[in-house]
Amino acid sequence: MVVINSIEKGIVIDHIKAGFGVKILDYLNIDASKGTVAFIMNATSNKYGRKDVIKLQNLDDIDLAALGLIDNQATVNIIEDHIIKKKIKLELPKTVTNVIKCKNPRCVTSVETNVPHVFHLIDEENKEYRCEYCDEIVTMNSK
Ligand SMILES: [Zn+2]
Repeated sequence: MVVINSIEKGIVIDHIKAGFGVKILDYLNIDASKGTVAFIMNATSNKYGRKDVIKLQNLDDIDLAALGLIDNQATVNIIEDHIIKKKIKLELPKTVTNVIKCKNPRCVTSVETNVPHVFHLIDEENKEYRCEYCDEIVTMNSK
């Protein structure tokens, strides 16, 4: 049994598709030195089958757009005083900055290190994003 609100203050990312927790930790670039990170892999969920759960104690500055991009079925709970203060519904972001990296070696973002990687959503159903600079298409696979 996983007690969701067992942290005092922070964020619980629940109902993460099993196996995607690692990706989320990777993409969010969470600085664990500022708080505590608990990562539960492959928990059983009556509603969703297997899931991952991430609990961030005293860490409340996370990139929700990036999170929505990786797994928009996950739920985000903001915890204060051990209670869920707010639930955030994730969605696929229309624009993402510095989450996806352009793979085109001739793209300006590959050549210049200080250019932000900006991608725009072009196909919601297939999770396709287009590079702002070179029109390279990136598909976010989440199956
Ligand atoms: Zn590009």
